[in-house]
Amino acid sequence: MNEYDSNRMKDLLVESHGFSVVNNPEEADLILLNTCSIREKAQEKVFHQLGRWKDLKKRNPKLKIGVGGCVASQEGENIVKRAPFVDLVFGPQTIHRVPSLYDAVTSTDKSQVDISFPKTEKFDVLPNPSSDGPSSYVSIMEGCNKYCSFCVVPHTRGHEISRPLEDVLNEVKGLAKGGVREVIFLGQNVNAYRDSKDKTKGLGLANLIKSTALIKGIDRIRFTTSHPFEFGEDLINVYREIPELVSHVHLPVQSGSNQILQAMRRRHSIEEYLEIINNLRQIRPDVSISSDFIVGFPGETDEDFQKTLALVNQVGFDESYSFIYSPRPNTTAKDLEDNVSIDEKKNRLELLQSSLKKSAFRISRRMVGKLEKCLVTGVSKKDPGELQARTENNKVVNFNSEGNNLVGEFHILKIVEAMPNSLRGVIC
Ligand code: SAH
Repeated sequence: MNEYDSNRMKDLLVESHGFSVVNNPEEADLILLNTCSIREKAQEKVFHQLGRWKDLKKRNPKLKIGVGGCVASQEGENIVKRAPFVDLVFGPQTIHRVPSLYDAVTSTDKSQVDISFPKTEKFDVLPNPSSDGPSSYVSIMEGCNKYCSFCVVPHTRGHEISRPLEDVLNEVKGLAKGGVREVIFLGQNVNAYRDSKDKTKGLGLANLIKSTALIKGIDRIRFTTSHPFEFGEDLINVYREIPELVSHVHLPVQSGSNQILQAMRRRHSIEEYLEIINNLRQIRPDVSISSDFIVGFPGETDEDFQKTLALVNQVGFDESYSFIYSPRPNTTAKDLEDNVSIDEKKNRLELLQSSLKKSAFRISRRMVGKLEKCLVTGVSKKDPGELQARTENNKVVNFNSEGNNLVGEFHILKIVEAMPNSLRGVIC
């Protein structure tokens, strides 16, 4: 989401002020730091990074520095208090105001802070994104109303707001014309999407996926991140009807213990989570499931943690993310008594990550010998003489294209080798 927002800011400033992007901060007249506050570590990085840029102002008096994103939303004026050389502070909902904030800074020479949640739809102001490669993110909704006890998102990005279906489809059509073959629908809670112009509020993500599949050129559809609480029958049925929708779902579960899920206020049980996966597997037996996990949540016992490990074994997750619990401002969990030592948390994270790694590698090894429909996304990072493609479950495949430029096209590749972080393929 932040990557997407950063690109929008770039497009906007190019359009409004004729800025161009330079490769190193010494050459810049404006530096924007787009921040994340999902965990404390990400937040601390912000002030370290700002410290590194402070002296650049001595060398270039024209330089302005801005901080956007969720740390900005959370800290507001405090950022300027702690780092007075920061000129503009804006939140995730005011990125469209960056050009006018920048103008205000240059004309008044005073720091500008705008972390409001304006009612005007920011997407109406932002220029339509241009295509940059065959795969493109499309933001369809923002914010979250779920208030999981550990999560800062509702406080920093605000409540759920969906874009009108028509606007999203127009954006996808424009991208398809520019060569995009795969769209990734983005949102903090993407399955809460509801066409905001539809008065019945009935037209959700399932409907959006069906309409998108009809757009010429779009042959692959992904979405992230979804919440198990709203993964309804209509969405499950789309897997039966729409082959463009990939056989890969990222569905964060956070913990394998019902007790912890309840303390996290996730609004679903492990049994309900497994039922979603069962239903998906009945339609698509090979569907790959990935997830997010938090270890060391306050009150997590060894027994709770063992249930998480057992879930990993039972489901056989693909490439997943796991984190040590980090208390966040304004969340209800931050006041819970935390009786799990940091050493124990680290130990659990290590065990979980090793188990997840094995599980994902098992899936990669099972793919060896199979034919996979892959989207060729660019040049291989390992060997510039080779190309890189992505499978449906988003694994990187490096292959020799025998000199043909296949970037932007789908090809059937035979998987010949599995490595821990990538696959090798050959053209069929
Ligand atoms: N909307 C998604 C969450 C996206 S945030 C959902 O509800 O599942 C991405 C991931 O960051 C979360 O899935 C969670 O695993 C992790 N995360 C969020 N808050 C955290 C916290 N306070 N401490 C540690 N990890 C956290």
